[in-house]
Amino acid sequence: MHGEKRRAIGTKNISFPTGRLSSIERAQAVLAGGCDSPVRSGWGVGGPMFVQARASGAYAFDEEGRRYVDYIMAYGPLLFGHTHPALTTGLDELARHGFVWGTTHPEEIRLAERIRGYLPSMERMRFVTTGTEAMMSAIRVARAFTQRSLILKFAGNYHGHFDLALLDAGASAHTSNAAASGIPGGVLRDVAVARYNDLASVDAFLRGREHELAAIIVEPIVGNMGYVTPVEGFLEGLRERTTRYGALLIFDEVITWLRFGLRGAQARAGVTPDMTAIGKIMGGGAPIAAFGGREDVMTALAPQGGTFTGGTHGGNPFCVGMAHRVLDLLESHPQYYDDMRERAERLADGIRAIFARRELPYAVVQHESIVDFKFRAGPPNRNYDDARAADKKAYAAYWHAMLERGMLLPPSQNEVMFVSTAHSTADIDATIEAIGAALEKNG
Ligand code: PMP
Repeated sequence: MHGEKRRAIGTKNISFPTGRLSSIERAQAVLAGGCDSPVRSGWGVGGPMFVQARASGAYAFDEEGRRYVDYIMAYGPLLFGHTHPALTTGLDELARHGFVWGTTHPEEIRLAERIRGYLPSMERMRFVTTGTEAMMSAIRVARAFTQRSLILKFAGNYHGHFDLALLDAGASAHTSNAAASGIPGGVLRDVAVARYNDLASVDAFLRGREHELAAIIVEPIVGNMGYVTPVEGFLEGLRERTTRYGALLIFDEVITWLRFGLRGAQARAGVTPDMTAIGKIMGGGAPIAAFGGREDVMTALAPQGGTFTGGTHGGNPFCVGMAHRVLDLLESHPQYYDDMRERAERLADGIRAIFARRELPYAVVQHESIVDFKFRAGPPNRNYDDARAADKKAYAAYWHAMLERGMLLPPSQNEVMFVSTAHSTADIDATIEAIGAALEKNG
């Protein structure tokens, strides 16, 4: 049987059966570690990797055609589920214009104007392809502008897979031993990793190095160590310190922009960063991202200034076209945010009722279309120490029990559940029922 050929990822000596190889075996034989991004291997929950054959609306399907209600939603970008017709029809028309030109074009200019209309702090911007690139580029510009090197970041925030971002990163990036992980020692000298929601920790790391500080980088609302909101005064405190030290404040809004409305986390927080990175949500699944900020800061970039970012795919007409579709859809359906919030609230309330019935001491957090709880007693996560204290074994058992019940959850407790406009009330109710049964089974 197909399933019998599955082997846990991490198995060193794979024996190849004589019959048809499973996708997992083929993946292990040709993809590094069997996957393109480690979280997908399932190493956070153990057992065989989930292999997806197709996707539609709120659902993922495995190779046997079994349907799962999908709460991974590609780790954030799919506000409208997998295959919203406004994003999937007429694509040959878009493609007929060409995928990539390598020149500047009016739609790219119009997209930047639209974005700046919603995020006025991005006075000047540049398009790139991934959130990693956006944050990496913003940091280089900040260093060039300030002529300083030190970057302060927060444990449990994830900014992509470039060197300095990986130190104590959240999401599923494991770099506890930086020296062994390919991060050069020189990089470590110019990064400080502070505790989220803890200004005293920021001050402790900066003491004596205030005038080396180029930038503080932060997820203004965090989706990569579970769901974490900034405590009152935290973002304001970062704003005040960066201004006082002549450094820049960079918001990573790769998860938050569009997830929390067209004006993002910065409008909600009432704190204006010097620079912002935005990403995957704006392409509705197509790879496009951007970084930008104060006009004077962005002049550090060539051709005006002495530092460089650029690339073949930056602002390519296909992905720019997709981003316009996403903004069109959101602008023409203002009720989408209410719809998503209502479903997320229904889900969170359902989970809370189960926890109350079973006297489980876990906090359920819900904000707009994000729902999250961790297997840890006490208040919701406030920082990475809290996130690390959650019970991994309990989550792994729960993840598998949910998969058995047709529910696809992120295979790591650092991630959150994303609800989309495609999740119906029936999907939510089925999910609540599955959670009740899965926790019953776990005892
Ligand atoms: N910043 C944040 C806040 C993210 O959540 C992510 C990825 N989930 C990134 C940056 C990196 O984006 P990408 O995977 O597109 O490189």
